[in-house]
Amino acid sequence: MTKPVVLTRDQHPVSRKLMSTNALKVLYRLNSGGYDAYLVGGGVRDILLGVIPKDFDIVTNATPEEIKGLFRNCRLIGRRFRLAHIVFGREIIEVATFRGHHDSTKDDKASKVSKQSDEGMLLRDNIYGSIDEDAERRDFTINALYYSAKDFTVHDFANGIADINAKQIRLIGDPETRYREDPVRMLRAIRFATKLNMEISAETKAPIKTLGSLLDNIPPARMFEEFLKLFMSGKAEANFELLREYNLFQYFFPLVDQRLKQSTEPYLYPFIKQALKNTDTRVNNDQRVTPAFLFAAMLWYPLQKQIKQLNETAQLTPQDAFFAAMSEIMAEQQRSIAIPKRFQAVMKDILILQDKLPRREGKKAYKTFEHPKFRAGYDFLLLRAEIESANVDKSNAPSALAELAKWWTDFQMTPPERRELMIKSVIHNRSTARRSPRKKRKPRIKTTENS
Ligand code: ATP
Ligand code: MG
Repeated sequence: MTKPVVLTRDQHPVSRKLMSTNALKVLYRLNSGGYDAYLVGGGVRDILLGVIPKDFDIVTNATPEEIKGLFRNCRLIGRRFRLAHIVFGREIIEVATFRGHHDSTKDDKASKVSKQSDEGMLLRDNIYGSIDEDAERRDFTINALYYSAKDFTVHDFANGIADINAKQIRLIGDPETRYREDPVRMLRAIRFATKLNMEISAETKAPIKTLGSLLDNIPPARMFEEFLKLFMSGKAEANFELLREYNLFQYFFPLVDQRLKQSTEPYLYPFIKQALKNTDTRVNNDQRVTPAFLFAAMLWYPLQKQIKQLNETAQLTPQDAFFAAMSEIMAEQQRSIAIPKRFQAVMKDILILQDKLPRREGKKAYKTFEHPKFRAGYDFLLLRAEIESANVDKSNAPSALAELAKWWTDFQMTPPERRELMIKSVIHNRSTARRSPRKKRKPRIKTTENS
């Protein structure tokens, strides 16, 4: 790699005012301990772009053990990539040691710190090196910018500033080799493109379509982490579209991807889109979001289909069919993304509530209303009603689902003493509906609106 371009304090807008004071404390402490230390990655890149950094990553020539010696509030983490976390209450500053090159010689000593799979994937990356080597090991040019709190310089090792200005996501080095070392870089390229409103450069884009299947080798737990970054950071819809464009969505949700490609389920795509849009709106308004809701949304229609298939072949109670279909679908899904148990539980609650919400007789409505996940289940019902009414019933007559959603909306707003009446009217409507079979609909008159 060529020597870095060093920008002095008056040549760049990276100011300490825009940095976390804790990150600065860590930089100063490392410097006064006699080590080199830089702010690197998103912290520098985002400030240059006028975006508030999500977190501040630091890199130093101190080893993890030496870092631990300097900070009381330090935890060492990671096996594949050993790091120090300096904990300040809720803020964690991540400190890494400069990464060096991997020798292909497979002697015993090297294999303890560095390991590569047969596909060229780095399974362990703990060889330490110099700042130049560290820069070469970073993923994108815009992420290889280093800020020093000693002399306020920015060191640009890979023309990152030019790429920031040209809005280009560009891998450092040979793209194919870099993707083989770590296939997750394909997902990171997409994430940065949408997050920063940039383009993936032509040579960085080119190998993705042929190398996508390398993502099959990524452990499901890491895929879950990447899922969170892609889908819970306010750009879920854009990431979904770009992942599909590069044919990478299948590595998160193989079943859903297959169904989307077959396009046999009319609601599937609009439903997922709307769920992602709502998630983005909530994230961008600082409202609470749970990945469980998105998992439920992704799997809802595939689950319905599975239930239907089971019912065709076996005599099962609706509940048994639901749980059987659910466990089949989850077993398949878990091979791609390891969804932690606590989110699985909420996801199942949301799905089960879809079966409970229509049943309101006797004490059922009250029980459902008291369910700890009622709100999420109700939101999910609203979403289904919105999509199913908008996409099928163009007659303007409210669908049964829309009526059910409205009933629950009203139920929540009705004073408790009048709720009993609402429940009675459900039973009443049901029995009258049973007695007088629906009249045949008049043929619809085509209006200009419908045609
Ligand atoms: P953000 O935190 O906003 O998502 P970031 O660029 O800081 O973006 P992190 O995942 O926090 O991303 O990683 C910090 C830095 O570590 C990156 O900027 C990059 O230089 C380097 N890095 C992270 N993951 C990889 C990877 N898979 N391959 C190479 N370098 C990486
Ligand atoms: Mg970061």
